[in-house]
Amino acid sequence: MKINDHYTELSSNYLFADIAKRVKAFKAQSPKADVISLGIGDVTQPLCPAVVVALHKAADEMGQAATFHGYGPEQGYDFLRNAIVEHDFRVRGISIDVDEIFVSDGAKSDTGNFQELLSADSVVAVTDPVYPVYVDSNLMAGRSIVKLPCTAENGFVPALPAQHVDVIYLCYPNNPTGTTLTKQQLKLWVDYALSNDALIFYDAAYEAFIQNDDIPHSIYEISGARQCAVEFHSYSKTAGFTGVRCGYTVVPKDLRISLNPLWNRRQTTKFNGTSYLSQRAAEAIYTPEGKKQVRATINYYMKNACIMREELTDMNFKVYGGSDAPYLWVRTPYGMSSWEFFDWMLNSAHVVCTPGAGFGPSGEGFVRLTAFGTHENTEEALHRIEKKL
Ligand SMILES: *Cc1c(COP(=O)(O)O)cnc(C)c1O
Repeated sequence: MKINDHYTELSSNYLFADIAKRVKAFKAQSPKADVISLGIGDVTQPLCPAVVVALHKAADEMGQAATFHGYGPEQGYDFLRNAIVEHDFRVRGISIDVDEIFVSDGAKSDTGNFQELLSADSVVAVTDPVYPVYVDSNLMAGRSIVKLPCTAENGFVPALPAQHVDVIYLCYPNNPTGTTLTKQQLKLWVDYALSNDALIFYDAAYEAFIQNDDIPHSIYEISGARQCAVEFHSYSKTAGFTGVRCGYTVVPKDLRISLNPLWNRRQTTKFNGTSYLSQRAAEAIYTPEGKKQVRATINYYMKNACIMREELTDMNFKVYGGSDAPYLWVRTPYGMSSWEFFDWMLNSAHVVCTPGAGFGPSGEGFVRLTAFGTHENTEEALHRIEKKL
């Protein structure tokens, strides 16, 4: 038996495992220290009441023969797909058909799996720094990857690739930099894809955090995107579904290569649907109460982001992102490396951040801070950083 050799090309240290190891070692050595994590991208606020009610109701249905649900449609239940079409697209003036929506257990699976539809020799471009799933899933398949640097100098807006690429992964608002693209900037990419026969895989996992009207929530706000873009959505950050699991992918039927039937074939072969409970929970986000409650939680996180931006800037840090995203991308002081500053933050302030270098070479010299903490922890972390500087 032979293994897939491409797995040996992956970097062996997964970033968050590395961080966890250092935090564990620090806690062993300073057991009394109260460590605050502004590192990993998980949320802290609970599910909103409308979602909890929907989960209880769905659980009761599952306990009665007459309303029990077994295997559902692999593409998702129509009650959720219809709600998505209406509330995520039609209200923004975007027309998406129900059979262009594929409900899933989250955007990590879909952004990781979608590359299966590409030929092995496709050239894939990613931004650098990047959400590691895009890179690793393509490395596993043996594809070559072109990195598009996103730096303070280019405003974290990647330049169009100098060589031909077949696919570009874009994630805006961005993880890890917390920066965005305006409609004008995104249009350049759609035009590039259309004139170079390329596809865009657009990860919109953070669209719910957008505050500024000029920032597109969906790539389909740009004309021509239906011919060249697939879009991934997640309820994880929007509504605290990191433990519930639900998201969806939009695969337009007028893409110039016909991926909609292929993705349908892939999902019906390898995926048996998202749980009924998760889909009823997701549906509840689109009710008037659900919308209001989810918005309140997002505002809670964005208030953290705002305080972090202001206070870190007052401490003379150079801070990017955090205005339309729950992430802040912070330049390390005194020319420290990402990991040096990580160690300083952990050992002096007892605060965990994420070293930017873990997201790609252009992340060196930065750390990522998340606004997903509680207000209390966020304030306390800022207070400690200020005191120890
Ligand atoms: C968190 C995140 C996701 C969502 O993952 P889920 O599998 O839906 O929890 C997708 N893309 C990016 C860039 C993320 O940061």
